Amino acid sequence: MTIDNYNFANKKAIVRVDFNVPLDENGHITDDTRIRGALPTLKKILADGGSLIIMSHMGKPKGKVNPKFSLSQIKDDVAKALGTDVIFAPDCANAKEAAANLKPGQVLLLENLRFYPEEEGKPVGIDKEDPGYDAAKKEMKERQKEFAKTLASYADVYVNDAFGTAHRKHASTAVIADYFDADNKMLGYLMEKEVNAVDNILSNIQRPFTAIMGGSKVSTKIGIIENLMDKVDNLILCGGMTYTFAKAMGGKIGDSICEDDKLQLARDIMAKAKEKGVNLVLGTDCVAGNAFSNDAETMICPSNDIPDGWEGMDAGPETRKAFAAVIEPAKTILWNGPAGVFEFDNFTAGSRAIAEAIVKATENGAFSLVGGGDSVACVNKFGLADSVSYVSTGGGALLEAIEGKELPGVAAIKK
Ligand code: AMP
Repeated sequence: MTIDNYNFANKKAIVRVDFNVPLDENGHITDDTRIRGALPTLKKILADGGSLIIMSHMGKPKGKVNPKFSLSQIKDDVAKALGTDVIFAPDCANAKEAAANLKPGQVLLLENLRFYPEEEGKPVGIDKEDPGYDAAKKEMKERQKEFAKTLASYADVYVNDAFGTAHRKHASTAVIADYFDADNKMLGYLMEKEVNAVDNILSNIQRPFTAIMGGSKVSTKIGIIENLMDKVDNLILCGGMTYTFAKAMGGKIGDSICEDDKLQLARDIMAKAKEKGVNLVLGTDCVAGNAFSNDAETMICPSNDIPDGWEGMDAGPETRKAFAAVIEPAKTILWNGPAGVFEFDNFTAGSRAIAEAIVKATENGAFSLVGGGDSVACVNKFGLADSVSYVSTGGGALLEAIEGKELPGVAAIKK
């Protein structure tokens, strides 16, 4: 079933959204992108004359009630965004009556799903190595099914619009779908858009295809890097991982961030790129700082010759030019991870150069996909989010989808 083909009139729809929004110390939302992202789906259901049961997680309360992560803090913002009152259910697993009382056009927001360990389905208080772990895991899986069944019992139809958690097999993202037949479960608009964007990258590759992977570590990106090697023409590896590669090639990297146990991995990646004919582009110069601070003194130096007491914190001018040279002519572009410590204003030049080159390529007809929290924060910071083809809300989910893995949140709907 697709959301466009479904008439929600007089139906109760339970919708999994990703309202895991950042809050300041007073519990006020600092970025409402995720709420805005879910609005087309939520509004369609209300416009059809359905009633809405909204469910989400927030933060990592680890299966325990924690007011710091209460969704009650965002109730008024959700109401404002929807233009209608929102009723709050303070216990997501005991909301049957509140759900039953909903009239068409009414909205119920459930408390944080992760206040229950059943949501994630991981046994609590027991280590993987402990002898009873397997039994505890089995028992928790049963409890997870019951929890999902309870949530399902509130509604006639299930919609999953939470791409950010689509790579997790949680009660509300996947298990719940088992309690609805194929005609009464579907992806929301945001999920549809995300899945289509990934399809576009994977099935309709216009060449040259340039992927830019940045961020702090190579270890967390290795799966996607290896997978991309079979697809891309150019692979830019930037950010903190630059220095693991520089050291692996015998360079001197001063105090730069480095994964010493990944030096061989870096050499293997370089060899694999050569073997597959992928143009691997690494930074040759950097902006080094004498402290990990925005106010650090800086100097430009070769990425493989950084003095002690200094650390590479951004891509240098020569590197930025080299990056732009393989981004601007590209016809398919994927960007995940910043090229420097972009949170510090004095170390944004590398990420900015990447963003601007992507915008240029997009103007020239490229399909560009930017994903992952930090790269999205970059394009937002530079005011360029509207100038790329697609900004994904998913970090881990996006990377797993591009790796070619089936997302449990999507698979559960198709079943
Ligand atoms: P990740 O979570 O692995 O995607 O990494 C994102 C983080 O990498 C951001 O917080 C950046 O500040 C950080 N980062 C990027 N370049 C560097 C660098 N040269 N040194 C230290 N951290 C970096």
